[in-house]
Amino acid sequence: MLKFDSYYFQCPNCQAWLEGRNLKSELVNEAVLYSDGKILYDNYIVTRQKMVMCPSCAHNFWVEDPAEPLITWEKPDAPVYSWNTWRFFGINFSNNKGKLALIGHYQRFLKKHVYDPKREIYLRRLLWWAYNDLHRNFHYIRLKYFLNGFMSYGVWSSYRRMLLEGEKLFFKNLKDFTANLNRLLILLEKHPEEQIDLEVPEIYRELRQFDKTKALLEKSSARTHFTNEILRHSKWKDSRVFMVTG
Ligand SMILES: [Zn+2]
Repeated sequence: MLKFDSYYFQCPNCQAWLEGRNLKSELVNEAVLYSDGKILYDNYIVTRQKMVMCPSCAHNFWVEDPAEPLITWEKPDAPVYSWNTWRFFGINFSNNKGKLALIGHYQRFLKKHVYDPKREIYLRRLLWWAYNDLHRNFHYIRLKYFLNGFMSYGVWSSYRRMLLEGEKLFFKNLKDFTANLNRLLILLEKHPEEQIDLEVPEIYRELRQFDKTKALLEKSSARTHFTNEILRHSKWKDSRVFMVTG
């Protein structure tokens, strides 16, 4: 079964065709949700990549609304750059070097231009997730994930090494991580229509302002598994991103 719907669009600078993919909507429920709102399916990020760097001419452009005339669902009768050649700007994500390169891309985009609030929120949210990727799934360092038989010893120990190194890199970048979240908070509080689920209380938790998280969540009447988990981690004074469901 195909898990993705393909769409096609053209670089406005060199007219090269690129293939984009959307996860089929019926599969979204089977995805893994993290506390920062990032959703993964089979290790693929579900959120659309709206900032594109053309694999042919390196021009940066936005692909936002799937209804734009630029975008078509039919495969064009021309050579097409596959999704893998441009998504995440062609970065190899399976090591920390690639993860740092992704952070660098978002930082550069943010420094280069002044964006409208909607676009700045989008870029800062992805930058936030990119920092968290350095130590996402940190629970896997525990021996039980090897003993459970999910992974061979070799796979588990190299994954563990990458996460431990990633955590060090995360703390090395803590100042920039914090500056990004502080700016994102200001934007989201000014534009509540752009907020996703529980991201504001979660940002306070990741900034280690646990009392603020608690106050915000206790105000809301709807208690969900997600709310309870954020509260539980706040009580432990744990500010690391965690897996909510998966
Ligand atoms: Zn191009």
